[in-house]
Amino acid sequence: RKPHVMKPEWLKIDLSSDKQSENTSEIIHSNRLHTICESGLCPNRAECWRLGTATLMIGGDICTRHCRFCNTLSGRPLPLDPDEPLRVAESVREMNLRYVVLTSVDRDDLPDMGAEHWRRTVEAVRRKSQVKIEVLLPDFQGRDDLLDIVLQSHPDVVAHNIETVRRLTPSVRSVATYDGSLHVLKHIHDNGFVTKSGLMLGLGETEEEVLQTLRDLRDCGVERVTIGQYLQPTAQHLAVEDYITPAKFQWYHEQALQMGFRSAVCGPLVRSSYKASIG
Ligand code: SF4
Ligand code: SF4
Repeated sequence: RKPHVMKPEWLKIDLSSDKQSENTSEIIHSNRLHTICESGLCPNRAECWRLGTATLMIGGDICTRHCRFCNTLSGRPLPLDPDEPLRVAESVREMNLRYVVLTSVDRDDLPDMGAEHWRRTVEAVRRKSQVKIEVLLPDFQGRDDLLDIVLQSHPDVVAHNIETVRRLTPSVRSVATYDGSLHVLKHIHDNGFVTKSGLMLGLGETEEEVLQTLRDLRDCGVERVTIGQYLQPTAQHLAVEDYITPAKFQWYHEQALQMGFRSAVCGPLVRSSYKASIG
């Protein structure tokens, strides 16, 4: 086992909050909602909430999968709450968000894997506010018919994360496959949606593997990409193999633009929803 890799200076962050983010936090909790900003221990929370962006998680807070990088609870989920779409819509309106990212745990336990619940949620948010809506979708096990149910709600941006390079996918992700995710992305793009994906670095991938992943994403029509540093949420999760320097992230940003991505948000603290509103 490798010795512990020290966290570099550029990852030390200011978690101070202000009035706007306290207000956002209060609304989220009073509506019994879950945010990735909080459960994912996201380092950008204060900044994003100040700027009117948040990532809400629907479908409960227990996932049927157990990816080795993810801090979400795994296990047997509770039944879906039919009032959740309305509560999400109310919260988004109260928070006065400019841009909302909706995501969900994977619901492999349900016959439609939560697709209908997704559609109802996006439609409810749309009815209550003018906010731009990005959906960060699970793979629905590659079922195009289920993806289409969600796409019927016409989100502004549709994301699905490839998370890591091909070689590392089986040891990092649970159930999902590299080719399965490429299929999902191609289907989204082929249906005319702005298509987005993201990956984490620092899991032991090589530079060439990262570039190949970017090329694979472009080949499926992905236009927006985010690349960030993997941070180990607890000692039980996958260890960090390397810390990628800010200069290297900048280099990936340039490579991605040269490959034809319209936006490439790359940096140590980047998460798939970071700077989403300007992506
Ligand atoms: Fe939330 Fe995403 Fe911003 Fe993190 S980057 S605080 S998860 S909106
Ligand atoms: Fe986390 Fe998503 Fe994996 Fe579930 S499917 S464990 S929410 S990354």
